[in-house]
Amino acid sequence: MLPVTVIGELQDIVGRDNVIIDSHRTMAYECDAYVAEKFMPSAVIFPETTEQVAAAVRCLGKAGVPFLPRGAGTGLSGGATPLNHEVVISLAKMDKLLDIDYENRRATVQPGFVNLRLTKHMAAQGYYYAPDPSSQSVCTIGGNFAENSGGSHCLKYGVTTNHVVAAEVVLPSGDVVTVGEAYGDAVGYDLLGVLVGSEGTLGITTAITVKILPRPEAVKTILAYFDHVDEASQTVSDIISNGIVPAACEMMDQLAMQAVDKSMYHVGYPEDIEAVLLLEVDGLAASVEDSVQRVSAVCAQNHVRAFRTAHDDTERALWWNSRKMAFPAIGQISPDYLVQDGVIPRTKLSAVLKRVGELSAEFGLRVANVFHAGDGNLHPLICYDARIPGQLQQAMSLGQRILEVCVDMGGSITGEHGVGIEKIGHMAYMFSGADLEAQQGLRQVFNPEGLCNAGKVIPLPGACVESRTQTKGRPPVLQSGETEGMVAVGGETVGPGPA
Ligand SMILES: Cc1cc2nc3c(=O)[nH]c(=O)nc-3n(C[C@H](O)[C@H](O)[C@H](O)COP(=O)(O)OP(=O)(O)OC[C@H]3O[C@@H](n4cnc5c(N)ncnc54)[C@H](O)[C@@H]3O)c2cc1C
Repeated sequence: MLPVTVIGELQDIVGRDNVIIDSHRTMAYECDAYVAEKFMPSAVIFPETTEQVAAAVRCLGKAGVPFLPRGAGTGLSGGATPLNHEVVISLAKMDKLLDIDYENRRATVQPGFVNLRLTKHMAAQGYYYAPDPSSQSVCTIGGNFAENSGGSHCLKYGVTTNHVVAAEVVLPSGDVVTVGEAYGDAVGYDLLGVLVGSEGTLGITTAITVKILPRPEAVKTILAYFDHVDEASQTVSDIISNGIVPAACEMMDQLAMQAVDKSMYHVGYPEDIEAVLLLEVDGLAASVEDSVQRVSAVCAQNHVRAFRTAHDDTERALWWNSRKMAFPAIGQISPDYLVQDGVIPRTKLSAVLKRVGELSAEFGLRVANVFHAGDGNLHPLICYDARIPGQLQQAMSLGQRILEVCVDMGGSITGEHGVGIEKIGHMAYMFSGADLEAQQGLRQVFNPEGLCNAGKVIPLPGACVESRTQTKGRPPVLQSGETEGMVAVGGETVGPGPA
């Protein structure tokens, strides 16, 4: 329960209408798009300026009340889920475009600015913002910054960290700092690099300066149908090893194609093919034609059944929508699904997809695959029915096994969706105790009281892979009166350092 005095102070800071405490309204903030775990926030506030964010953070810090930042809530790992009944600081009303500088190719936005709005805003001038998560029509640039989000075109252009040059951040102390440099190289420690991808655990970003790019002269979008997943996987590897870097290289398997073809983005994929590649090449017109020929030759070597290029922008948009809306389209074939996010070396695609198929059969749960194939960034979508007792746990266990396969193959437990609460128990599978301690040490420098988004990303001593699927293994949760340096793990209260 939030003390009445704190509620009053927050109302003074952001205005009465910008504080909600009624459970029927705060309920909308009990999780993000990772819906398997839900916790009620103690309040949700909507600051409109950096000063209001800083004042609210100082007020909460003084009262020892945990808090967390939230963008659009599309995160898929529970990063914005109020695990400790935090006060949720929604950045939704900080959604202004602050500056645009075409000559120097920079744009500065508030954190609640929706990703796709930036590209739309600059379309007439021939510019765009490259990182394009499939959720880009709703997710915010603040959320992208915190998750170091990727997207279909990040194969050639890089992920969020390659496009952010500076940021204004409210630290958990309430101090406001600027990191990075809008123009030129940043001097001193690379704090921007530390903050991008820190999942809202080191502070709250209140302004972000990003690079903007001129639209390429020409773009060609390709669909390549394959009878066998192996052939499509080999094609991905061969394209890159032949020195071709497509702007995008995405794959969907048969189950995913069935789902999107039932949605409003019906492409009409042949029902008997096992995989489709959606490829895009861009650049100067002459080089694009050459790249299409080279991609076509690689596909032919791998027995492509059909190779199509989009006739016009309408067809291109349909193909992209069918890919970008593939996650929600799984709802057409399954009552519930869990999105996984692992990374593997591209050359291991075939072997890993085969193993995912075997695990799917072993667990008796269907798995659709929709992913950034060029980056080796898998997104197995595990279909389950939450109404069947135990099936959610089964789906989570299957997800865990898939991530272990990724790590065993030399990859990682997340490509772009972050660790949040969903994968915190898997960190120990990837990192040693010393690795995790180093990261925890960094966090304590920024967030010494542990009030800012506690219990996310870095497991505390005693947390382990098994913990996520066993009852004793809730992620670390702050108990009343505790800060993150001293938390309950598996029922016991331990301080920092080895358990
Ligand atoms: C259908 C679908 C498709 C998706 N496709 C992709 C994809 O292709 N690529 C990809 O990378 N992701 C994808 N995602 C995941 C998600 O959209 C991204 O992680 C996105 O960046 C989250 O942005 P958000 O505004 O919704 O942030 P939220 O979900 O609100 O928050 C995400 C994290 O960022 C923190 N945060 C938010 N704002 C701030 C801030 N101002 N300062 C500090 N921390 C902050 C939160 O505390 C939380 O930890 C997809 C999600 C869905 C539902």
